[in-house]
Amino acid sequence: MSEIHDVIILGSGPAGCTASIYTARAGLNTLMLKGPEPGGQLTITTDVENYPGFADPIQGPDLMDAMMKQAENCGAKVKETWITDVDFSNRPFTLTAEDSTIYQAKSVIISTGASARWLGLESEEKYRGFGVSACATCDGFFYKNKEVIVVGGGNTAVEEALYLSNIASKVYLVHRRDELRSEKILQKRLLANPKIQPVWDSQVKEIIGEAGILGSTVTGAIIENVKTGEETTINVPAVFIAIGHTPNTQLFKNILDMDQSNFLITKNNSTATNIKGIFACGDVQDPIYQQAVTAAGSGCMSALEVEKFLAEED
Ligand code: NDP
Repeated sequence: MSEIHDVIILGSGPAGCTASIYTARAGLNTLMLKGPEPGGQLTITTDVENYPGFADPIQGPDLMDAMMKQAENCGAKVKETWITDVDFSNRPFTLTAEDSTIYQAKSVIISTGASARWLGLESEEKYRGFGVSACATCDGFFYKNKEVIVVGGGNTAVEEALYLSNIASKVYLVHRRDELRSEKILQKRLLANPKIQPVWDSQVKEIIGEAGILGSTVTGAIIENVKTGEETTINVPAVFIAIGHTPNTQLFKNILDMDQSNFLITKNNSTATNIKGIFACGDVQDPIYQQAVTAAGSGCMSALEVEKFLAEED
C-alpha cells in the first residue's frame, strides 16, 4: 500500500505553491503534484508588475521558480505527474496517475488552475501551432517584424498585444465590442501605442492559410464587423487568441459541485468543496478575480482549513 499523505496538492501555480508552503510549515506530510503546465499560467507570461514585494517587474517563470523552491525548502515533496482519475468517495482519498501510480491522502487541495479558451472555429483548430497560438510569449518570437492579430478585449489580450508590439511590425487587436474590458492603465498604454491598431466591433470569421513545404501555415484571417456584417481580410502569418480561460475541472465532473462555467464551487468564506476533506483554491474556483495574488491568498486559506480539518479528524 502506498504512503498516506496528510495532504496532496494538485497543481503548482501560485495557489498550489502557497498552500504547500503553509501545510509543510505546519508539519503536515505534503505532496504537491505538478501537472502538464508546472508553475501554471505565470510561466507563460513575461513582466509581472502587480505581485506585491517586487519594486521592479519580475519575470513570471522566475516568480514561479522561486515559489516552488520555497515550497520544497519548507519541506513539501514535489512530483511531476498527470493525475487521470480520483476517488473521493472513501478516505483516504486516492488519486491515480497516468503511469498507474496510486497516491493516497487524508485531504486534497485542488489548485489545477485554468487554461486558454479557443474561438471554436475549425480553421483555428487546423492551424493551431502553425500560426494560431494562445501564448504570445511562447510564439511571438517567430513573428519578428511581421504583422499579427490578437483577438480579445480583456487584460490578457491587451497584455499580449503590448508584448507583441515590441516584436511585430504591427498588431491588430480584434475585439467584438468597441470598448475594452481590461484595466484602465492597460487600455491607456494600448491606445497610445502607435504599433497597435484596434479593430472594433469585429470577430474572426475564419482563419485562412496555405500549404507549404513544412505543412499548412496561416496567411490571414477573415474579419467580420458584427454591426454591419462587412467582411475584410487581414493578411498576417499569426493569430493570437486571448479570449479568457476555462477552469481545469474535467477530472472532477460528477464528483464535485461546479457552476455553469465549470468552476468548482466552494463554501462561503471558505475553500471547502461539497466533499469533506477536499478543498479548492486559485483560478479553478475563481471566475472573478483570477490574479496571482488572490490565488496565493486562497491557497493560504486552503492550507489553514486543511490543518483544522485534520486536527478535528484526529
Ligand atoms: P476576460 O474574460 O477578462 O476577457 C476575455 C475577452 O475575450 C473579453 O474581452 C471578451 O469579450 C472576449 N471574448 C470572450 N469570448 C470571446 C469569443 N468567443 N469571441 C471573441 N471574443 C471573446 O479574460 P482574460 O484572460 O483577459 O482575463 C481573465 C482574468 O485574468 C481577468 O480577471 C483579468 O483581470 C485577469 N488577468 C490579469 C492580468 C494582470 O493583472 N496582469 C493579466 C491577465 C489576466 P467581451 O469583453 O465582449 O466579453
